[in-house]
Amino acid sequence: MTTDATSSKTQVVIIGAGPTGLSLAVQLLRYNIDFIVLEKNEKTTPYSKALVVQARTLEIFNELGIAGKAIKEGRITTAMNLFYEGKQKAKINIAGLGDGLSAFPYALSLEQSKTEKLLVDYLSENGKTILWKCEFIRFEQKEGVKVFYKNSNGQEQTIDAAYLVGCDGAGSLVRHQMGVAFSGNTIPRIFYVTDIKLKSSIINKDELFIFLIKKGFALFFPMEGEGHYRIVGILPDKTDTENFKFEEVENSIKEQMMTDVTFEEVRWFSTYKVHSRKADSFMNGRCFIAGDSAHIHTPAGGQGMNTGIQDSYNLAWKIAYTIKNKANSIVLESYNTERTENAKHLLQTTDRMFDMMAGTGAFWNFLRLEIFPLIAGFISKQSTINKWIFPLVSQTGISYPKSILTVKSSIGKVNAGDRMPYFTFQDGESIFDYLKEPAFKILFFGNKEQSGLEQLKSIKFPIASFSFTEIPKTVFEKNSGFYILLRPDNHISYIGKDLSSCKMLFK
Ligand SMILES: Cc1cc2nc3c(=O)[nH]c(=O)nc-3n(C[C@H](O)[C@H](O)[C@H](O)COP(=O)(O)OP(=O)(O)OC[C@H]3O[C@@H](n4cnc5c(N)ncnc54)[C@H](O)[C@@H]3O)c2cc1C
Repeated sequence: MTTDATSSKTQVVIIGAGPTGLSLAVQLLRYNIDFIVLEKNEKTTPYSKALVVQARTLEIFNELGIAGKAIKEGRITTAMNLFYEGKQKAKINIAGLGDGLSAFPYALSLEQSKTEKLLVDYLSENGKTILWKCEFIRFEQKEGVKVFYKNSNGQEQTIDAAYLVGCDGAGSLVRHQMGVAFSGNTIPRIFYVTDIKLKSSIINKDELFIFLIKKGFALFFPMEGEGHYRIVGILPDKTDTENFKFEEVENSIKEQMMTDVTFEEVRWFSTYKVHSRKADSFMNGRCFIAGDSAHIHTPAGGQGMNTGIQDSYNLAWKIAYTIKNKANSIVLESYNTERTENAKHLLQTTDRMFDMMAGTGAFWNFLRLEIFPLIAGFISKQSTINKWIFPLVSQTGISYPKSILTVKSSIGKVNAGDRMPYFTFQDGESIFDYLKEPAFKILFFGNKEQSGLEQLKSIKFPIASFSFTEIPKTVFEKNSGFYILLRPDNHISYIGKDLSSCKMLFK
């Protein structure tokens, strides 16, 4: 970064130091890309907000060397309990739901305030700071982007940059100025969320407790500290949230739960409206949006923050390769196509999950209160279904089969577009132990060592190569002598015997 009194220069300006903006900063740092983060608040969020850190996020954190810290500070949720009218209807073991599918086969419960702190610490350990109390005002774009902001003294300043990324949350000013519509709808019902200390003979473990009730649910999520839980639910027939207090909902929850519980201390209480919206485009010229500024949805499945982190993971390498290696413009455009498509599916899935948990009317009540408790226990015992649920919820199953960066190909059950499948070698090492470098990689699986690099000699990008003689049959079946071309975000661009078909990717 270069500066004078009122203007500075950098390669990328990031607006917002929430989980998405911080993740983008952390990723750009790995690629040695210069950036400035502007944040209007004076520090990261003090609130617990997003509690669930999904497996794919932990895999990304592992590449940064901070997964261990996250796990140490969080709690692994071991089971999900379903109750109706005081009776337990099902108990589903979720601790090892993704066994064999990820090194982190569970969901971690960690307050968003702690997740953000981990990322800020990573930045400061690497000599980078956030410009706190600096508010983005507007931008102009021509060959580059000029960003106008108010600094902590209220003075207007500018930054010249190659790219601007709005990670400025649901009300994104960057999105407004890009002229992009935020299509979707707002759910008419009001949610409450509270972090609470409680005493109960039933709700007293590192487990998730769902109490099904007539007009929705009360969900208890374990948090750090004895008797500390997050409760999420829907206000009974309420549309006005002004000055609403937890005490007003407390009796109604207790009555419907029919379970022994005493609420001892309310640590945080908030009400909010839920939206299901997606920006029509995530880019306009040199400007991008990511995270909540690009998509917001119901809290079902704990996807919001994790999706923002993955948006950044997807975008960072594309910006880096465009700046450093003059990658073709299709690389940047693929951020828009891949992540808008992902957001579209995400909204469909979270809307469906939400209807199941909170839909009103006879049909949804029947499904939630009569059918769901019956089938939940059965589902949990079906490993094939678990193998479908885990990839969906943990975000390890995201794939970009239609991307311009994907060459249609497959080996065994693995298709181009997929995230590299997780497996361990006989010595116990995970394939992901080899894949931490932020670079394109060629993996060869065959009887004798081979790099495959000679086939891609003309390519201007640096490519790391690995050769493996051990071929896991459960993943690749009986195949041998094949290559995998991995993108820096460890999604497969190509998998097959002839690497020459990948040359078109690097034009
Ligand atoms: C109660 C609750 C529970 C949730 N639970 C989960 C969960 O379990 N799992 C999950 O994945 N998600 C969950 N979410 C969603 C999650 O919190 C959001 O998806 C996440 O915070 C989005 O991150 P972000 O960085 O995109 O946006 P934000 O966190 O909104 O950050 C945007 C940042 O931009 C800054 N900003 C805005 N405008 C400007 C400007 N003009 N200039 C400078 N800075 C600006 C803001 O101050 C803010 O710091 C939950 C949310 C809530 C409210």
